[in-house]
Amino acid sequence: MSILEIIKPDDWHVHFREGDFIKSLVPETSKLYNRVIVMPNLSNPITSIAQIKKYKNEILNNSVNKNFEPLMTFYLTESLDVNELIKAFKNNLVFAVKLYPSGATTNSAKGVKNFKNIFPVLEKMSEKNIPLLIHGEVNDKKIDIFDREKIFIENELIPIIEKFPFLKITLEHITTKFAVDFVEKSNSNIKASITPHHLILNRTDLLEHKIKPHYYCLPILKKEQDRKSLVAAATSGSQNFFLGTDSAPHHINDKENECGCAGVFNTINSIQMITQIFDNENRLNNLESFLSKNGPNHYSLPENKDKIILKKLSKPLKFNKYLENNNYKIRIFNPPFPIYWDIKEELI
Ligand SMILES: [Zn+2]
Repeated sequence: MSILEIIKPDDWHVHFREGDFIKSLVPETSKLYNRVIVMPNLSNPITSIAQIKKYKNEILNNSVNKNFEPLMTFYLTESLDVNELIKAFKNNLVFAVKLYPSGATTNSAKGVKNFKNIFPVLEKMSEKNIPLLIHGEVNDKKIDIFDREKIFIENELIPIIEKFPFLKITLEHITTKFAVDFVEKSNSNIKASITPHHLILNRTDLLEHKIKPHYYCLPILKKEQDRKSLVAAATSGSQNFFLGTDSAPHHINDKENECGCAGVFNTINSIQMITQIFDNENRLNNLESFLSKNGPNHYSLPENKDKIILKKLSKPLKFNKYLENNNYKIRIFNPPFPIYWDIKEELI
């Protein structure tokens, strides 16, 4: 198979950051995807309608795709105004709410410390059918960083699901076999997004011989058996898993630093490398489910009408190393294998 036609994909987890970054990041994403869920962890987290309107406008002003639809999120704090959330949801301004355990990742200091304190908001969200998107890791010095997803599921997620069985939940960027198995046996309201880099890398890739700061992300890369389990889940055709790139750029100086930031910028080659992964697994027949069908199905949205054509080339693709201008330089994720698939054209 060297030509594939699939429904145009969506990215169910992306970071556009702020200021200058938006001007370069939004065009790259809107070229490839029709809908994206935009993360709210700006330096001043998004918790109000006024902030949503301003941020969404900025994003739309930089889009290069007339069908591009940024789906906006509120940042869940223990003091989030429920009335503001309901009002925003009713007016189609907010699509979902993102839960960061306090301190778990970039700009998460204002996240949740005591999960019981958000139960009143979760109750309303369940009632109104507002999806909850979760960064599923505990942030606890006593818990080893490689165990934080599992402990979050056991100690925080299970009680939330038991109390709110009808709440639509996305466990974002899962990284472990434990999370895959958990989602597979959960009720149909719980699904998971998976990133390209967690499908490609394990912790040995990050740490062996020399440290690779551009592979450093949160949740941190796990063991090879975990990566294999993610690949099996993504390529299986199961409706429980879909793409969320978690493309999360930082300026190169903030990555190559004695205290480097977490996040991988993978937008530019994301669809191409995912297609290559499915090809390597002989599962191209399930690519469209993972990229274009399972997400809308989970979020009760229609599938995109546009299609794209992917073509397998005889020589590997070459990508630029950096996305840069006078003000910043961002390293583009470079997977450690050749990519032969490219997007040939769009059928609109
Ligand atoms: Zn993220």
